[in-house]
Amino acid sequence: MSAENRPAPRDVVLVSACLVGSFCRHDGRTKKDLVLLRELARDGVEIVPFCPEEEGGLGTPRPEAWIEREGAHAVLDGRDRVVAITGADVTREFVRGAELALAQCQRHGIRRAFLKERSPSCGVCQTYVGGELVDTPGVTGELLKRNGIAVEGIEGLRE
Ligand code: SF4
Repeated sequence: MSAENRPAPRDVVLVSACLVGSFCRHDGRTKKDLVLLRELARDGVEIVPFCPEEEGGLGTPRPEAWIEREGAHAVLDGRDRVVAITGADVTREFVRGAELALAQCQRHGIRRAFLKERSPSCGVCQTYVGGELVDTPGVTGELLKRNGIAVEGIEGLRE
C-alpha cells in the first residue's frame, strides 16, 4: 500500500475507566461522562480506559484514600504517603497504578489523557491532601504530567 493510501493513524487517548462507565470507584459507582464520550466519538478518537487504583492492586469497593501531607510530587519522590481512611498505607498501590498508566500511554503512543478530577490518583488540578481539597494533582495525574502527557480533568456524570 502506498503511503498516500495508508489510513491515518488513529488518535488514541487514555481515559479514567470510571468516566467511560466502569463501576470502579472506591464506592463501587461510576462517573460515566456522556459528553466526553460523545466528543471523543465525534472526533474518531480511540479510548484506552484505565483505572490506576484497580490496576495498582486495590479492589472495588475499597476504603477512601488521600495523600497524607504534601502532595503527589512528594509521593512520587518518596517523601509522602497515600493513606486509606482505615489508616492502611496504600502508597505502593497508588504509585504502581500510576506507573502502569504511564506504561499504557507509552505502549499506545498516547499523548493526551482525560482524568477524573479530584481523585487521589486521577486528579489533574485538585485532590485531597490530609483530608482537605487542595490545588494539586493526584498521583497518576502528576506522573503523566511529568512525562509530557497533556492531562485534562473531567468532573464526570454529564448527560
Ligand atoms: S478516578 Fe481514577 S482511580 Fe478512581 S475509580 Fe476513576 S479511574 Fe479509578
